[in-house]
Amino acid sequence: MNHPGRVLILGCGPTGCGAAWRLEEAGHLDYRILEAADEPGGLARSVVDDAGFTWDLGGHVQYSHYRYYDHVLDEAVTDGWRHHERESWIWIDGRFVPYPLQYNLHRLDPDVCGHLLEGLRHAAGREGRGSEPRTLSQWIERTFGRPLAERFLLPYNAKVWGHPLDDMGWGWIGDRVAPPDLERVERNVREGKDDGGWGPNDTFRYPEHGGTGTIWRSIGARLGAGRVRLGSRVTSIDARRRTVRLESGEVEAYDTLISSTPLDLLARITAPLPSAVTAAARALRYSSVHVLGVGLRGGRPATMGTRCWIYFPERQSPYYRVTLFSNYSPHLVPEGDGVWSLMAEVCESPHRPVDAARLPTRTVESMKRDGLIGEAATIASLWHRRLERGYPTPTLARDRALEVIQPALEGLRIYARGRFGGWKYEVSNQDHSFMQGVELVDRLLRGTPEVTYPNPERANSGEFLAGDEEPPPDREPGRKDAP
Ligand SMILES: Cc1cc2nc3c(=O)[nH]c(=O)nc-3n(C[C@H](O)[C@H](O)[C@H](O)COP(=O)(O)OP(=O)(O)OC[C@H]3O[C@@H](n4cnc5c(N)ncnc54)[C@H](O)[C@@H]3O)c2cc1C
Repeated sequence: MNHPGRVLILGCGPTGCGAAWRLEEAGHLDYRILEAADEPGGLARSVVDDAGFTWDLGGHVQYSHYRYYDHVLDEAVTDGWRHHERESWIWIDGRFVPYPLQYNLHRLDPDVCGHLLEGLRHAAGREGRGSEPRTLSQWIERTFGRPLAERFLLPYNAKVWGHPLDDMGWGWIGDRVAPPDLERVERNVREGKDDGGWGPNDTFRYPEHGGTGTIWRSIGARLGAGRVRLGSRVTSIDARRRTVRLESGEVEAYDTLISSTPLDLLARITAPLPSAVTAAARALRYSSVHVLGVGLRGGRPATMGTRCWIYFPERQSPYYRVTLFSNYSPHLVPEGDGVWSLMAEVCESPHRPVDAARLPTRTVESMKRDGLIGEAATIASLWHRRLERGYPTPTLARDRALEVIQPALEGLRIYARGRFGGWKYEVSNQDHSFMQGVELVDRLLRGTPEVTYPNPERANSGEFLAGDEEPPPDREPGRKDAP
């Protein structure tokens, strides 16, 4: 076994938890986590508002690409899971259409349906001809045809990313966007059949109690006593002396540093670094997310009973997605008749400014207009949180920037991984982030090559779901596991 010496981990989100979990498993206990916040979880935390409603920082669900991660979750959360079949919808042309749109075109007016289908046929006919698309907008248009691109995919992606789509790559898409299987599209149109079963998250699970944050609180509590220091923000890193300075003025030494701090910030607080590295870090782009939780009493439209989330591509709705949050678990809302909750996400970026003060009122008004909230509802809570870093943008310049930054940091024994630590959106969910921590420790201790960070496609292939266990036999929507 190699010896990484004293390991400092910056951040006790999923990435830091994964690294620490694996160090504990290997018996390498000479490590410490420094976490700025007063609880573990990072962006995967949950909070309870003053009215007793629980909120995630954006709709978080568990759909894993790794058997190992599944086992850790089973061990961490022992008071029950709810298993859901994804029921996601799109609000478009004044109606709800099941997701993905291309498999449910029959729900649109016949002339619109025909036009979109024609575009898909045209795109399929051109497949394999011409040069590879370079940008996200080119990829969308060539894959889905111009009509479907203009109607849904371009406006929706512009709304989520808040960044020009012709400055974004498409290598991140992997298993995140349903490919148009023309035969299936045509069959569904012919038979007028709803078809929502697609994708890696067509089923997912959610903790019975405490929201997503319950997972990370529990994992944090299982790490060695005294090795997790909460309320400890690192403000500077001396890469020559291998020390970090905390806000409190304390200094901690390391031999190996694992960081889940956003890479642009890491480059700002680390010295000395070559100027090419700080310049490359300045080229990274991200968008912010406003999360709006609306706690309600009464007035839940009948159609909202089993839905999970709804996408909103159109301009008039401020949000790009609304989650029917209390459908994940009834314990996310305070007890009482007819209490339920909705959670909206709104992107903000330099290209898409947001009037934050007016956003809560606009959100509720729009939810009423979009048929999400019935007349009889009263608002029991209106919770608003802005996440400065929500999405790491996969710009065309990203990979070049990472190729400059990462080898330079590793030369200093600084390993940056995770959603913003590694800045690869395609492997930035909780499972990916946790496993980036695990795999990095395996590399440091045993020399085992990492997979997830250097090879996202392989990580997302399903290869790491193979294992000794069958999936749970019964996957009825909302089924409650015996604790
Ligand atoms: C709107 C939204 C929806 C999402 N939905 C899903 C979903 O459905 N499913 C899913 O699996 N994932 C989802 N995610 C992604 C999930 O939140 C991330 O995968 C995960 O939180 C990334 O973990 P991380 O440890 O890399 O980073 P983070 O969660 O950002 O944790 C980093 C930690 O480092 C700490 N830190 C930063 N700088 C310092 C410093 N200088 N000193 C000390 N501590 C520091 C922070 O306080 C934080 O706790 C979603 C994210 C968003 C924003």
